[in-house]
Parts: sequence; C-alpha cells; structure tokens
Amino acid sequence: MAAKILEIDNLTVSFDGFKALNNLNFSMDTGELRVIIGPNGAGKTTFLDVITGKVQPTEGTVRFKGKNLRKIAEHHISRLGIGRKFQTPRVYLNLSVRENLDLACNRQKNVFATLFQRPPATDKRNVFGLLETVGLTAKADLKADLLSHGEKQRLEIGMLVAQSPELLLVDEPVAGLTDEETENVGNLLLALAESHSIIVIEHDMEFVRQIARQVTVLHQGSVLCEGNMDRIQNDPRVIEVYLGQVPSIGEKEMIMLRIAASMAWADGNIAPEEIDVILTRLSRQFADDEQQQKELQHELQDYLGTNIAIANLVPQLETVAEREIVLKLSYEIISSSARIPSEDLINEEEAIAYANLVKLLELPAETVKRLEAEVQAMSKS
Ligand code: ADP
Ligand code: MG
Repeated sequence: MAAKILEIDNLTVSFDGFKALNNLNFSMDTGELRVIIGPNGAGKTTFLDVITGKVQPTEGTVRFKGKNLRKIAEHHISRLGIGRKFQTPRVYLNLSVRENLDLACNRQKNVFATLFQRPPATDKRNVFGLLETVGLTAKADLKADLLSHGEKQRLEIGMLVAQSPELLLVDEPVAGLTDEETENVGNLLLALAESHSIIVIEHDMEFVRQIARQVTVLHQGSVLCEGNMDRIQNDPRVIEVYLGQVPSIGEKEMIMLRIAASMAWADGNIAPEEIDVILTRLSRQFADDEQQQKELQHELQDYLGTNIAIANLVPQLETVAEREIVLKLSYEIISSSARIPSEDLINEEEAIAYANLVKLLELPAETVKRLEAEVQAMSKS
C-alpha cells in the first residue's frame, strides 16, 4: 500500500468569521497526480495556502508524510519538500533559460555567483536533464523574456523541480495558454507525475480531461465529491455547482446525452440539425408531457457543450434498452447531416465515430440492422 503524502483532517480556515475552508477532509497517496477543481471562491487557493504554511488553519490538521505542519514557517515547509508554482510565472526575464535553471538548482547561490562562477559538474548534468524534461533544450541560451507564455510556465515548472520537491503544487498552469501550449504543459505534468506527487488546481476542463486520473471537487470550502473524470462530469451535484442548476435528468440520462453530443461533435462541429435531433429525441425519451419536454429541451442544450471520449461513457450504460436508445439516436444524428440518410454518410469523421460506437455498444449485428432500419423508416415517413 502506498503511504499517504498528504492527510488533511477537519480543516477550517476562517477569515473574520467567513469560512473559506469548512471542515475539509482530504488525503492523497504518495506518487499520485490529483486535480482539484471547483467554482470561483470554492477555496482552492486557500487550500494551497494552508498546505504551504502561508495561511494557518483555524481548526484541523495538515500532515505531510505523517508530519503535522502546524506552526511550521512557510520557508521551512518548502524545505521539507513541498514546492509551489504560482499562477503567473516568476522567472528572471533578463537571464537565459539555462541561467534560470542554474539558479534554481542551487538556491544558496545568489544571482551574481550563478552568472560569474562555473557551476559544478553535477549541477550541469541536472540543468541538462531539466532542459530536456521541460522541452527547452533548443532555447537554453535565449533570454527568458523571449519565451512564449507557455514556455515560461514550463521553465518555471522546471525551476520548481530543480529544488527536488516531493510534492508539487501547481495553481492554474494553463490559464491564458494556446491549445498547443496547454497540451505541452499537460504532457510535462504527466511526465513529472512519474516521479513526483502533484496537486494541480485547474479551471480548464479540456485540460483536466487530458491529465486527470483522480479529481477532487471543492465547493464552499469542503469536498463536494471525488472520483475519476467520467464520474465527476456526470455527477448531478457537480453539474449543479458549475451551471447553477440542478439537472432534472439522472446520471444515466446524462451519459446518453453526452454520447449523443460526442457523436455530433466528432467532426469538430455540432450542426443545428444535430442539436435539433438530440434535443427532440431525448426530451421525448426522458419526459412524458409536452410542456415538460419543452422545458427539458431548453435545459439539455446547456449540457451539449462537451465532447467526451465515448470509450469512457459507453461502459457506464448498463441495460440493453439504454444501449439501443443510444444506437438509434446516434444513427439518426450522423444521418441528419447527410442528404440521403443511410446511403450517403457525407461526414467521414462522424461515420468513423459511429462505427466505433457500434463496436463499443456490443449489440448483436441483427439488432443494429433492425434499429438502423427503424430510424430510416422514421425519417422517410
Ligand atoms: P478559489 O481559489 O477557489 O477561487 P479562494 O481560496 O481564493 O477560492 O477563496 C475562497 C473564499 O475565501 C472566497 O470567498 C474569498 O473571497 C475568501 N478569501 C480568500 N482569502 C481571503 C482573505 N485573505 N480574507 C478574506 N477572505 C478571503
Ligand atoms: Mg484561486
């Protein structure tokens, strides 16, 4: 069994009576990569502030490798092996990438010594490895000032790693980054997770999906729920705190909706007629009277925005009936953008996605044929 790197019990932090953290419990195994999400004001930054000793708990305990961190000064906690990366990069802009890493590798040395003394051979090897890790070898001699925002973030993560922390705390590392830079930072964190325990706080759901294994959702200073990304995204409580409304459909219905949306998004674009098919069919499936169906269509529209890998969603469907509904709906969606349904699947990406779905659903071939025929008959009438 892996030892716990972090154990937090009944943690409360009050600011003039307002509880930014409220009786929070949390624990994490050594070597884990944990993502923490939650709406603004949930207490995410305060959570990191307590771990690093910047803020003292009003009540409760934080243990790092079994050691109670109460009353231990911030700089001392950092020496115990907890490193924090703040949201905005803090690198020396007029030093080169290599010089920044040299400095970080040996914090005892000052800037002057780093610039004018030759670093010992072990440091050189370290810096060489770090440059490689953060993917900045080719830019080693460039002034940090000239790096893109994403490269600066990677450099700062490298500087953090240079101090060999056991636990890395990373606050919103991809805010304001391009898609490509976001992916690079994600890959870097995944690589570092091989040899470090890491907590990442993040808003960007696309990014969370790229890196997340275990996710903890904070809400009003407490843990709302924990689990893998597929669980979290379909949890009605999570949807409620993010969208400000209680979904009137259940978890299974949400999964069906998400599969349908993924099918429609397969070509990178969700067409109006696809939205129409999804909303009409599912609202009829989930509600009986017309008024309810109308309201539901409105609501379901809010949930269409995310494209989740169907390979993660399909296994969560348990009954044959659910699988059959999903197959019919998906067939209808991919046919809806074709001029002649069934014969002319003009959209290749969606056709591929559909073939993949059929495989995942594991329905007998005759059933698939029958259901597709039903959809065709329906569209002709
Ligand atoms: P998040 O990072 O999830 O957005 P924060 O941890 O920054 O949330 O804040 C949680 C709550 O605590 C917010 O309502 C915020 O206004 C409040 N808060 C944070 N720091 C302080 C402080 N130093 N004094 C008073 N209130 C604070
Ligand atoms: Mg914050």
